[in-house]
Amino acid sequence: MDAQAGMLARLFERSMGLGPEWRVEDVWFESPESGDEELHIRVGRAPGAAVACPECGARCGVYDARERTWRHLDIWQLRTVVHCRVPRADCPEHGPRTARVPWEVRPNSHFTALFEAQVLVMAMSGMAVSAISAQVRESDSRVWAMLGRAVSEAREGADYSGVTGVGIDDTARARGQRYISVMADVDGRRVVAVTEGRDRGAPGRLCDQLEARGGDRSAVAEVTRDMASSYSLGCAEAMPGAAQTVDRFHVTQLLTRALDRTRRAEAKSCEEKRRLLRGTKYVWLKRPENLTERQAAKRASLASEHLLTARACAMVEAVRAVYSCETREEEAAGLDRALSCVFCQVSLSEKSVTFFRVSPRKFFGFRHGHAASFPTCPA
Ligand SMILES: [Zn+2]
Repeated sequence: MDAQAGMLARLFERSMGLGPEWRVEDVWFESPESGDEELHIRVGRAPGAAVACPECGARCGVYDARERTWRHLDIWQLRTVVHCRVPRADCPEHGPRTARVPWEVRPNSHFTALFEAQVLVMAMSGMAVSAISAQVRESDSRVWAMLGRAVSEAREGADYSGVTGVGIDDTARARGQRYISVMADVDGRRVVAVTEGRDRGAPGRLCDQLEARGGDRSAVAEVTRDMASSYSLGCAEAMPGAAQTVDRFHVTQLLTRALDRTRRAEAKSCEEKRRLLRGTKYVWLKRPENLTERQAAKRASLASEHLLTARACAMVEAVRAVYSCETREEEAAGLDRALSCVFCQVSLSEKSVTFFRVSPRKFFGFRHGHAASFPTCPA
């Protein structure tokens, strides 16, 4: 090895966590016809080092060796590949067993531990697998396989025994209406279970998974969910002891949709309202703190126009304000204010609004999980 390669070798020895049993034997560059220049590293056993049997740890002689490669973190933006003839320990008790190497997390991985860590960090930051595989220049099937193994390993070790509050929601598996239901541990901020579909049986299947890892459905005191009646019924069956709460996101979404429908209906009602409300969609839909100066001025100037939309907007803000309350007393007072002209029955739970029984033609018009619109204000 020349001086540059020697320096690289020392760098790898440190970055790959090689102990005294392993050493970098060679470093070289390759320029494959199909792509960019690559960096290659050959690692071998230090002379005379015994091989540990992965089953019992006994120090053994070498039975034979098998050539393998791993993808390592890019060095100077070069695709970097590690090569090693991995020895098999000649264990008197277990027979020939492939030795573990310090740079891989699990046997037969295509990636070194550092490379896996990089991909995991990207995936956990919310990057799509297609984007990850393009950035690290690996096939997405390999990236998926690695993520799948990492997730299964994390699931194997998971313990859901202390879970008492869960959130259940659906999400589309892919573009095109195939849904999955996800149960999250609200306090632990982690996914607990995932199942196909969003039917009435989904909460029960999620509970089965919860209990497979030490959880107890009868210990769940609170379920936060969306407004689908299948979840409402399914949760009541699967967790009869749990209070059900419609989660904040779905309540706010319902309110803002009703607000927007109110604005459109009011704009159609007469020429004057149409003129007043023209181009004001986001003046009403945005939170006050997110309004531009111009939008804030517009909202203020419309306040004196006796618009139904302005009243609806004030109600949405009042309900939103309940979510920022520090104490239950504040929440209760805030809800009273918010619902002073909204005739749905509500009850409070921590930081959220529970809609228990909703009469259809009343103010917000919640019915079967859908908001109708803001009818003419009775006040
Ligand atoms: Zn052994």
